[in-house]
Order: sequence, then structure tokens, then C-alpha cells
Amino acid sequence: MLWPARCALCGERVPDGGGLCAGCRADMPRAAAGCECCGTPLPVAGRCGRCLVKPPVFDAVHSLYLYEQPVIHLIHALKFDAKLHLARTLGGLLADHIATLPGARPEKLLPVPLHPRRLRERGYNQALELARPLAKQLGIAVDFTSCKKIRYVAPQATLSADQRRKNIRGAFSVNGAINARHVAIVDDVMTTGATAAELARTLKKAGIARVDVWVCAYAPLPR
Ligand SMILES: [Zn+2]
Ligand SMILES: [Zn+2]
Repeated sequence: MLWPARCALCGERVPDGGGLCAGCRADMPRAAAGCECCGTPLPVAGRCGRCLVKPPVFDAVHSLYLYEQPVIHLIHALKFDAKLHLARTLGGLLADHIATLPGARPEKLLPVPLHPRRLRERGYNQALELARPLAKQLGIAVDFTSCKKIRYVAPQATLSADQRRKNIRGAFSVNGAINARHVAIVDDVMTTGATAAELARTLKKAGIARVDVWVCAYAPLPR
């Protein structure tokens, strides 16, 4: 794959490759540490009020950025404009972040699957493309065959949190043996967490004990 020698944001030459110049990298909107269960930004470490009352089905969320510009621009270019080299950039930066975190590493990475119809339309799964550099840098295997999206789901973007949960219900199935106790779901963006929660629910039903969620960007819906 050709690695563009210029920064994807400002066009500055990037001598070492890597997709973004040091200045643009430093200006990206980092997600502050959030709730240890759901990732909601919090002023102090710990759990948010919602997770204290009812913990989500996944066990931890790690997000690198907030879903703000220029992160939105980069993720849109990856997702809708086939700029696949950006998966290497963003996945690599997410891997650098994950490498600094304490705690047990998952045994497998599971990119959120696309429905076969969406995969045909797009030609690739951006979550799988993001998982590849994570796998390589962190030395964790990617499993992109055991879990399938079996229901075509209308885009979630215009739906409320409650509608999203109903919309995604029953959308995934596990058809292979994942052979892991602890996995991480990989996706580009997390908004209400409805997709991650439904996939985590399906994985736990299939016997996975611990499900973390790794995303490039976190986009909290206004409460
Ligand atoms: Zn730049
Ligand atoms: Zn929380």
C-alpha cells in the first residue's frame, strides 16, 4: 500500500510517514479519561451515575478522541471516501494509546461486523481496517469471521438512544468458536453505545467473560 508522504489534514510533508504531521497530531481533540464502564467524560476517575445504577453489558470503553473536527473529517474520509490509509493512521494512534493503559489485554480483537449488503456497497469494513494496525502493534489476533451481522439495520444517526437500542436488537450472531475469555470490540465511533452493547450482549451469551470496547472517537449524545 502506498503511504502518502503528506499530512492528511494540512498537507505538510511527513518524513516518517504516519499520515499526520506532529502538529496536527498534537491538536487532535483527545478524549479525557471517562467513566471506567461506559466512557462518558467525567471530571474524576470512577463510574458515572448511570453505570453506578445499572452497569452496561460491556466491561470497559477506551476512546482515543472526541468525535469533533478534524476527527469527524478523518473518519468520514475513511468510511465514505475509501481513504483506507487513514485506518492505518487512526488505528496506529489508537494502538499507541491502548499500549499506555494498565490492565489485562484482550486475547482477540473483534471488529464490529457489517451486514453483507453494507459490505458490498462499501467494499470494506472500516472497523476491520482499524483493527489490523491495532493487532499488529499490540500482538493480538483479529477474529473477523466468528461474528456476523445478520440483520440489515437502518442508519442509527437520526435515532434517539432508546430507538437505537430497539433498532439494533438481535442484529448480531456468533457462529464460530471465538476461543477467548476476554475480547475487545473495535469500532470507529461510539455514540450511545447501543451497537457495542448489543454486540457485547451477543458475545457474552456465546460464553465470552469480558468484553471491552475500543473506539477511535466518542460522540456522546446530549442527555
Ligand atoms: Zn498536519
Ligand atoms: Zn458510565
